[in-house]
Amino acid sequence: MKNDVIVSIENLHVNLMTTRGVVCAVRGADLDIKKGEIHGLVGESGCGKTMTSKSILRLHDEKRMLYEGSIKLRDSKGSIKDILQLPMNEVRKMRGSEVSMIFQDPVVSLNPLLTIGNQMVEMLRTHYQDMTKDQAKQKTLKLLDLVGIKPAAERYKQYPFEFSGGMLQRIMIAMALSCDPQLLIADECTTALDVTTQAQILDLMKHLQETIGMSILFITHNFGVVAEICDRASVMYAGKIVETSTVEDLFDHPKHPYTKALIESIPKSGRPGEKLVTIPGAPPSLVKPIKGCAFAERCQYANENCKCQQPEMIQVGPGHECACFLSEGKVE
Ligand code: SF4
Repeated sequence: MKNDVIVSIENLHVNLMTTRGVVCAVRGADLDIKKGEIHGLVGESGCGKTMTSKSILRLHDEKRMLYEGSIKLRDSKGSIKDILQLPMNEVRKMRGSEVSMIFQDPVVSLNPLLTIGNQMVEMLRTHYQDMTKDQAKQKTLKLLDLVGIKPAAERYKQYPFEFSGGMLQRIMIAMALSCDPQLLIADECTTALDVTTQAQILDLMKHLQETIGMSILFITHNFGVVAEICDRASVMYAGKIVETSTVEDLFDHPKHPYTKALIESIPKSGRPGEKLVTIPGAPPSLVKPIKGCAFAERCQYANENCKCQQPEMIQVGPGHECACFLSEGKVE
């Protein structure tokens, strides 16, 4: 694990037992999240982004789920632990204090019968057992102020229904930051918001990352959002990372045909009547084993080699990696 990395995912497999058989939702993903960066994880719905990120916090039902590989975390004291090997009581301690997560719909994460202030105070006192009620209240007011919920002293007494979707997402961010995590995982956290509110939340996250210095893993299917907020990004397809690079390099010099197709499918003008570019075909089923490159059925460059061998991730430039035979010169 490199010194500037706080979470290193190596060869992660997540297999889900279903009535239809075993779904290989993540098929050997590799991902490094560096200290202080905003790292985008991008791909179509169902490609394994959420499965990968929830594995960092072990949020899956482990009776139906099988992990392989490792997820190493450099904790705030500097020791390196493999999260997949930790006993569950250690995992619970790590949640919130080392890594926290916010989701698309803040309403389902909040209790409608309790004020925002009470919920935050309760959560703080669960994490910090020697914290007094008054200390927790003061910390809550500071956090609300930090995320732009003002005047904090009045908003503290209000119930979730008294806030808009954007405000509730700010409250979720405040809660996620309350135990000073090193990594915040934001899973499609702006998808349900209108464009203006989405821009405000992205600005807030960028600002918080710059002032607090934490890392953010930003999960999205929207490449436009990646361009706005992320420093580096990884593209995921059918349970594997297929390309990783700085965002600048990814947009200027995309190497994988899937990344190129995703970039081409970003609406250019956003005006009514604009013809949208789509990627033909559909991702493969993850129930059956996939032979060869998972993108082969949709790729205009695919040859026989692509259909029987899996391309490995290789270095294609400084800090730029890609898993495609085109980059190896095996396909023209
Ligand atoms: Fe296309 Fe072959 Fe590259 Fe897969 S390995 S993306 S099929 S060129």
